[in-house]
Amino acid sequence: MSVYPSSLERLIANLSKLPGIGQKTAARLALYLLRAPRNLTESLAASILEVKEAIGFCSRCFNLTDVDPCHICTDNSRDAATICVVEEAGDLLALEEAGAFRGRYHVLQGVLAPLDGIGPENLRIKELLTRLGQESITEVILAINPSAEGEATATYIAGLLRQHQVSVSQIAQGIPMGGDLKYADAVTLKRALEGRRQSI
Ligand SMILES: [Zn+2]
Repeated sequence: MSVYPSSLERLIANLSKLPGIGQKTAARLALYLLRAPRNLTESLAASILEVKEAIGFCSRCFNLTDVDPCHICTDNSRDAATICVVEEAGDLLALEEAGAFRGRYHVLQGVLAPLDGIGPENLRIKELLTRLGQESITEVILAINPSAEGEATATYIAGLLRQHQVSVSQIAQGIPMGGDLKYADAVTLKRALEGRRQSI
């Protein structure tokens, strides 16, 4: 038998499904929301629904956006010849916040993870190759997180790109193995991009 009324129990159960939120934190948040002014809970509920409805993926780079193509893809002041390939939208945001890159992006939406059943067809790799045929891209920078899966993904993509007339480089310096671009500081991100090395 639960100690909480069933609707409160449901809220705790839902909150605990969020990343990084355990049962205890979920219960604390739920009790806080229960005591919070009604306009706060209404605005929270509305904004959760709003992002689900308004935000989608850019059909060109697969970044999160509320306009398609996204602001980065249509920004003519950016270097259209250089594409930075990242694992997920959070990595793109980290690079943008650091002001580390002035080209355009391509978000893979994951990395190869054969054990989890994620193969090349589950990532936006085909779309990247299509872009190479449609846009005047001369350089591709692989800025994929340096995990075992990330390295395998970068090697796989670098292999595919060999058949195209583009220079391919990989960021390395400064991001430790197993590290995550999202949590790297601006200086590290800038150095990692500057110190990119040509893919073999
Ligand atoms: Zn875009």
